[in-house]
Amino acid sequence: MGLRSSAICRRCGRQFEVYAGDNPFIQVMRCDTCGQGEVLIDLERDGRRITDAEYELELSVRSRGCSCGGRISEHAPIRCPVCASERVFPDPEGDLVVY
Ligand SMILES: [Zn+2]
Ligand SMILES: [Zn+2]
Repeated sequence: MGLRSSAICRRCGRQFEVYAGDNPFIQVMRCDTCGQGEVLIDLERDGRRITDAEYELELSVRSRGCSCGGRISEHAPIRCPVCASERVFPDPEGDLVVY
């Protein structure tokens, strides 16, 4: 289960979806360059918490890099997927979507 909300880019006006959950079972990682690579790591597997070793493995596999040449990082800010601007704000009319 996750939570998505929409955001709007202040630079190009594009509306897009972002992962908005503060979900203890999912780690969100993003490309630190283009805003395209959103990677979710499940912290639960087969009904149990993954071990530190499994987590490290996931991190190293997922952070290998984005197709743009950027790095996937858990500390990367949300960026516009079109112009890569960091100047994005939550869409006041966007609905939170729980799935
Ligand atoms: Zn990228
Ligand atoms: Zn933009």
